[in-house]
Amino acid sequence: MRTSLACDVGGVVVGGGAPVVVQSMTNTDTADIGATVDQVAALAEAGSEIVRVTVNTRDAAHAVPEVRERLRAEHGVTVPLVGDFHFTGHRLLTEVPECAEALDKLRINPGNVGRGARHDENFATMIETAIRFGKPVRIGVNAGSLDPELLDRLMEENAAKPEPEDAEIVVRRALVESAIGSAVAAEEIGLSSERIIISCKVSRLQDMVAVYEELARRCSYPLHLGLTEAGMGAKGIVATSAALSILLQQGIGDTIRASLTPEPGGDRTMEVRVCHEILQSLGLRAFRPQVTACPGCGRTTSTVFQELAERIQDHLDARMAVWKRERPQVAEMTVAVMGCVVNGPGESRAANIGISLPGTGEQPRAPVYVDGEKVTTLDGPTLAEDFMAMVEEYVEKTYSTVSAC
Ligand code: SF4
Repeated sequence: MRTSLACDVGGVVVGGGAPVVVQSMTNTDTADIGATVDQVAALAEAGSEIVRVTVNTRDAAHAVPEVRERLRAEHGVTVPLVGDFHFTGHRLLTEVPECAEALDKLRINPGNVGRGARHDENFATMIETAIRFGKPVRIGVNAGSLDPELLDRLMEENAAKPEPEDAEIVVRRALVESAIGSAVAAEEIGLSSERIIISCKVSRLQDMVAVYEELARRCSYPLHLGLTEAGMGAKGIVATSAALSILLQQGIGDTIRASLTPEPGGDRTMEVRVCHEILQSLGLRAFRPQVTACPGCGRTTSTVFQELAERIQDHLDARMAVWKRERPQVAEMTVAVMGCVVNGPGESRAANIGISLPGTGEQPRAPVYVDGEKVTTLDGPTLAEDFMAMVEEYVEKTYSTVSAC
């Protein structure tokens, strides 16, 4: 298990052995204050613990303090906000210092802060702003905007070797050098090592794993994981889950984001849900009760089983909003909804509470198991309601309420 430094981002601890933090990013124009406030609130409500917003124009920079204030006043949301800066960050942070003040972290991409002497000057301006306002910084390197001067130098050095390495290896090295070199430069300017998080985002899984394994070996800064431009739908979810899981399983990664492309008009909060599912599947954190449902097969020819599984998951998700405050341990509960006698009783016994529905040709009766013991058998048209009432009763009995004081 890698031990990183702890970095406080607006009251949320990233690294230092703290639970892996879930992040997300808005896709609104930050200058559109109403839309940005609504989306940040939705992401926070879905369970995003840090939210990043684009700061690309003077209007966006001016909007940030109002976004911050309206989130608190209209939604009671105090989620840490991160400003994402490219190309113009040094200017915006200088011209609109109240933007830096309202943010909880600055994200700086060292590949997008200018070239040559300008690069060092602009980078220093942004780091000095972070120091002045006491803000942490994420040095966020991205393969799509890798510092071309650094890459050219490493490519030339590689070409001069008697046996040059593949260009792919050199690009990976450039990503790591850019991140660590920039973090060291930030420390030399005066930023504390405990105010630095780094990331190296790439779009291919094998590159991402290799780069982060190298970062983990070479530094103790907290690491932000994400497979950038993961894509849409199943492809994006699977690629993100696979990449993050390989690293998280090794203890690499202090905060994560799923960079999914939403369907047009799709729900931005899906990226938060995916991060939760990854962390919960790995047993690293618990966010909501897990429903174990079999895939169904030729033994489940009616839709009763799918409908019940879906209703129970929806019911648990809806109730979790209340349980989260009153009985947070419910997030660790497991519920089984199984389709027939083949694996139904076994999986139902293994869950906290489980129901084994009758498959085709079986008696229309559903045994219910609580903590491994069969406690009753349900049947009839109110079977779903009866089972959900039993789940409620189990929660009431098993998970005590959090004291108000
Ligand atoms: S538990 Fe029964 S219905 Fe579900 S997949 Fe297995 S055999 Fe099919």
